[in-house]
Amino acid sequence: MNVTSVDLVTQYKNIKDEMDRAIHAVLDSGHFILGEASKEFEKNLAEYNGVKHALGCASGTDALQLAMMAHGIGAGDEIISVPMTFIATIEVMILLGAKPVFVDVDPKTYCIDPNQIEAKITEKTKAIVPVHLYGQAADMDLIMDIAKKHNLVVIEDCAQAIGATYKDRQTCTLGDIGCISFFPGKNMGAYGDGGAVLTNDDEIAEKIRMIRVHGSASKYRHLLLGINSRLDSIQAAVLNVKLKYIDQWNAKRGQHAARYTEMLRELDDVVFPYTPDYNTHTYHQYTLQVFDRTGLQNFLKEKGVATGIHYPIPLHLQPAFASLGYKEGDFPVSEQISSHVISLPMYPELPQDHQNYVAEQILAFRK
Ligand SMILES: *Cc1c(COP(=O)(O)O)cnc(C)c1O
Repeated sequence: MNVTSVDLVTQYKNIKDEMDRAIHAVLDSGHFILGEASKEFEKNLAEYNGVKHALGCASGTDALQLAMMAHGIGAGDEIISVPMTFIATIEVMILLGAKPVFVDVDPKTYCIDPNQIEAKITEKTKAIVPVHLYGQAADMDLIMDIAKKHNLVVIEDCAQAIGATYKDRQTCTLGDIGCISFFPGKNMGAYGDGGAVLTNDDEIAEKIRMIRVHGSASKYRHLLLGINSRLDSIQAAVLNVKLKYIDQWNAKRGQHAARYTEMLRELDDVVFPYTPDYNTHTYHQYTLQVFDRTGLQNFLKEKGVATGIHYPIPLHLQPAFASLGYKEGDFPVSEQISSHVISLPMYPELPQDHQNYVAEQILAFRK
């Protein structure tokens, strides 16, 4: 049997008629950047999250950059975040001339450990960027208390967490601004790149509206330094269809996650995903910590089961970030997680017999 990590084709086939109609309507309209489809999607996305403004852009990476630019983050500023994330979270800080300052993650949730934040705050600190890793929120109330006390901006990296809730509130709306990715493999993926920022702040929303079109409010008059980062109308139309299904798809992921845990529960040297009571998890990834990861990954590959590692090198040890001056041992929890995590196949349409097969093979490896 061949089990892939994700399957984007089955999902398309399930909603093909509706999707094709939405895409063709954009082709017929002749508006390909922003335009009606984008406006409609932005309205629906804002409504879904219960937030005043949702603004589309070209990727999740750009969403983070736009959020930082709109909050005036630049040279000399320090931003507190984690080494246990996808590189984009940190990359944009450095591109803007700001300095990432790492804090280790909580050993159970794998999200930023709020108790370690205050020790890293200096007079240069401007923002905190919590990452809702694998699809569940960091402990946002504690983070917001610290941010208020020190007058810091909180930018949520929600790339993996659309639809996740924290204490019954939608993530992405708990800080000052939230950043989403619509990369095809994310829980709500476009058919290409895409992203969005969410905020209740009118002034910040207005700035982002300008920054994403080269800093202009009207044609060829540029008020701010900007970039080119818009959501294509075709992607907006695709996402408008998908938004109707996201809760249903996230629920399916939750069911698959519960089944994996149930089927594998006899493995007593495996660390299963942990969700505190205050969170609902979107299971962008279903990720275990295992003792012999390389052995398991190779065994599963031989059996036709694809797995992923999110992420094999914590960012403080990435060659590209060597100039930050961190070394091995600086963030022991992130290092421990990075060297033991393995993500199992996970997508809403994952067939049960595929899932059974994955679990059987993992159990067979352990015997
Ligand atoms: C995917 C991802 C991003 C970047 O999103 P893109 O749309 O790929 O640019 C940023 N942060 C995290 C945590 C991600 O998983």
